[in-house]
Amino acid sequence: MGNLAAVAKHLVYQCGHPPNKADFALFEENLLELTLCSLEFNCPDCCRAAFSLIDLDCQAYANLHYIDQNFSAFTLEVANVVSPLSDILATNGYQFCWPSLDELSYDNGIEYGGVSVWRKEFWFDHQTSPENVLRLMNHLKQEMTWLANYFPRGKQGTHYGKFMPR
Ligand SMILES: [Zn+2]
Repeated sequence: MGNLAAVAKHLVYQCGHPPNKADFALFEENLLELTLCSLEFNCPDCCRAAFSLIDLDCQAYANLHYIDQNFSAFTLEVANVVSPLSDILATNGYQFCWPSLDELSYDNGIEYGGVSVWRKEFWFDHQTSPENVLRLMNHLKQEMTWLANYFPRGKQGTHYGKFMPR
């Protein structure tokens, strides 16, 4: 932990701003990883300021998806995003695709009129322990917190158990 704080002191985003010290103090592994993978871009504060100027309405939707009889997945879909957030999402494992319609199905480009989202899926086996599922839920919450830092409307742009309105 002491080592991490020492390392964090020397880290900066492309814009020259340091990462949020509170994120490192929390020592939440996913939040740290996301931050470290995003240092080559402008910091969340600079991105948010730029997005606010163009009144960008970034939104994120976290849901549970049924994949098949063996697997389900927590899914995260981010809508209304431009560069550099789109590049940051791609760097952090998000795929550009059609949005989900519900817990079972995905759009084919028609229902949402050709609107795409950035999606990341966290799969888990139905046989896994409740502890693992809880760990994954915590992982997802950290990811939503991280996303909200980039959004002009912050946490108001993050939604749990809700799909993008059609
Ligand atoms: Zn900055």
